[in-house]
Amino acid sequence: MTRQLKNRMAVGGIVHETVSFLPEATTLADFERRAVRGDEIAETFAGSNTVFGGFLDVCQQNGVAVEGLICAECAPSGPVSKEAIQALADELVSRATLWRDETDGLLLHLHGAMVAKGDLDPEHTILVRLRKALGKDYPIALAMDLHGNVGAEKAALADIVCGFRHSPHTDMAETGERAARLLLGKLAGDITPVAAMARPGLVLPSIFTATEISPLREIMTDVRAATAEPGILDVTLFTGFAYADVPEIGATVLATADGDEALAIRTAERLSARLVEAREALYGAAPIYDPMAALEKTAQLLARGSRPVVLLEHADRGNDSTHLLHAMLANDVGRTAVPYLHDPIAAKAAASAGLGAQLMTTVGGKSSEMAGAPVLFSGFVTYTGHLRYRITGPVRTGEELDLGLSAVIDNGRIAVIVTTHSVTALDTDPFTQCGLDFEEFDIIALRSKTHFRAAYEPIAGEILIVDTPDWGPADLLDLPYRNVPPGIYPITIDDGTDVGV
Ligand SMILES: [Zn+2]
Repeated sequence: MTRQLKNRMAVGGIVHETVSFLPEATTLADFERRAVRGDEIAETFAGSNTVFGGFLDVCQQNGVAVEGLICAECAPSGPVSKEAIQALADELVSRATLWRDETDGLLLHLHGAMVAKGDLDPEHTILVRLRKALGKDYPIALAMDLHGNVGAEKAALADIVCGFRHSPHTDMAETGERAARLLLGKLAGDITPVAAMARPGLVLPSIFTATEISPLREIMTDVRAATAEPGILDVTLFTGFAYADVPEIGATVLATADGDEALAIRTAERLSARLVEAREALYGAAPIYDPMAALEKTAQLLARGSRPVVLLEHADRGNDSTHLLHAMLANDVGRTAVPYLHDPIAAKAAASAGLGAQLMTTVGGKSSEMAGAPVLFSGFVTYTGHLRYRITGPVRTGEELDLGLSAVIDNGRIAVIVTTHSVTALDTDPFTQCGLDFEEFDIIALRSKTHFRAAYEPIAGEILIVDTPDWGPADLLDLPYRNVPPGIYPITIDDGTDVGV
């Protein structure tokens, strides 16, 4: 390598998993709540199980200084507003441009499934802008989410592309480390990464992207094993994100070899073929219940002493679905916790009523008509306050979480935690943070898709997936896709006839 190394890397990212069908846009204020810049990036993420934590760790281990650009993340929600994507992309590109000649490369984190108003692939747009500003030879390593919809054009704009290989995403830091190490190896002239991708033409509902459920479990084991094969540097299987209605929707296998493009192609195609073979089995990997069937099954499980039962209202994409809560209020099956129902109005009402007060308020059902009707809920306020803490669970460990003003409203049978910011409960932190005794509960009603499994599989009596009529259903044919090309199982069939509408 003739390039004189400066031992300084730029670090940045704009991270959002976009649910196209949600009516409300994601705003700049939603991103700004967690956005950090410059030295704040190291202060916020050092030592955390996040991609940025992984980037920082590898730089530190290798004596490489870090220049923080901007890291802006926001929980999954509706399409990013034009104003937000413009402002965030402008800032990322201008900061990267400013530091171009003082850095050896950019460690970049994008989700892979971001959609903006007026731009179906804003991440591609960001990469095009970065390339234009930084030049085609400026090294960029890109770390993405397992749920990325990763087309060839987007991937080709980075020198290195790595993605999570576990869902729950317990390997976020590890993924940042993989991407950073490969870029440092390339800079040192030790390796010559060449990548190839293969796309099997399918997309999975998020619940079936859990990497410990067969047959994805076995395929993922092979993906990880392939990385250890001679000549291979890295392999990622992106499962894709089914709720972003985009032309690039679907799974991707991306293999990176050391100078051997034919090997990268063979590896990607071999693993992609595994997905094609298994596609029907992947799509039906676990039983799905409607709310009433789930409650009947729950009663049977509790009678047998299997507790707590985790009920997963997985189709909820706004953290405020009420379909299951309505059913649980009408049917007394057991002592129930509903951690993190997004409802700023109810949180405020509980704070005004005060600790210990009895309160009647509506909760949930405000993000869209599909979320179900708000529930009239009466109970005592057993916690109220600004809920902010560092995550102790296995996903995003160590990262600070801010739910804003929050409250527990408990009617003696069901305890609901209402929050100002939309956050999906993944672990048992909500119980310890809000003074609830986890052991007391027979039923835990969650809205996570796969991430809860890292904390809950070891402690749950049983996990039941409950399908409700919201924007993230198990049956993708229920969704009004408009941008999916022919040949994406199960949304479109191979002759291009759209069976999804
Ligand atoms: Zn993901």
